Amino acid sequence: MIRFDNVSKRYASGHEALTRVDFEVERGEMVFLTGHSGAGKSTLMKLIMLMERPTQGQVFVDGRNLNRLSSGQIPYYRRNVGVVFQNHQLLFDRSVFDNVALPLQIAGNTPAETGRRVRAALDKVGLLDKEQQNPIVLSGGEQQRVGIARAVVNKPSVLLADEPTGNLDPELSAEIMNLFRQFNEVGVTIMIASHDLELLKRMNKRVLGLSHGQVAHDGVLW
Ligand code: ADP
Repeated sequence: MIRFDNVSKRYASGHEALTRVDFEVERGEMVFLTGHSGAGKSTLMKLIMLMERPTQGQVFVDGRNLNRLSSGQIPYYRRNVGVVFQNHQLLFDRSVFDNVALPLQIAGNTPAETGRRVRAALDKVGLLDKEQQNPIVLSGGEQQRVGIARAVVNKPSVLLADEPTGNLDPELSAEIMNLFRQFNEVGVTIMIASHDLELLKRMNKRVLGLSHGQVAHDGVLW
C-alpha cells in the first residue's frame, strides 16, 4: 500500500532529512513511526501526502508512483489520504459540522451528500451530538476526535497521523488510539508518528524506528 524505494530527501537548506529509506506497509496494516526529534518522521509523512517531493528514490501509494502524478492529479490523490495533526488545525470561527464538511465542500459534494457523510464521520468518533458547537468549547480529546472525523470524511484508504496524542493525557491517548484501531479494523491502512514508547509497547503493532533519517528498527517493541 505504501512503499518507499531508496528514498532520500534533502531540503533546500542542504540538510538531508531522509537517507535511502526502504520499507513497505501492506494494505490494512497499522504501523507506528518513531524516533528522536529531527529523525525525519514528519518529512516521511509529508512525502506520502505530497507536501514534499523526494530528492532521490520513489514513493508508491496504492500502486501509484507519486513521482509520476501530475499537479492536476494531486487533489484527487489527496482525497485518498486522510491526515490528522497534533494540534488538529481546526477552524474556531465555524461549527464542528462545518469543520468536518470542509474537505467535502472543496471536493464539490452536494449539501445532501455532505450532510450524510459528515454525520456518518461524527457518529464514528462519537460526536454526533456536538455538530453545531464551536470546537473551541470542546475538550482537547474531543477536538482531536473532530480532527479525525475530518480526516476520514472522504473515506480515505490511508490515514496518517503526526503525534496525534502529543497533547493528551494517557487515558485520552488510549481512547484516540482505540479510534484509530477501529478504522484499521475496517481496512484503513494507518501510519502514526509517536515518540511515546509506553504507548507503542501497549499497542503491540509494527514500529518503524527512524534515526538520523534512516530506518534503524522495524518490528514490534517490547
Ligand atoms: P521529526 O518529525 O522526526 O522531528 P522532521 O522530518 O520534522 O523530523 O525533520 C527532519 C530534519 O529535517 C530536521 O533536522 C529538520 O530540522 C529538517 N527539516 C524539516 N523540515 C525542513 C524544511 N522545510 N527545511 C529545512 N529543513 C527541514
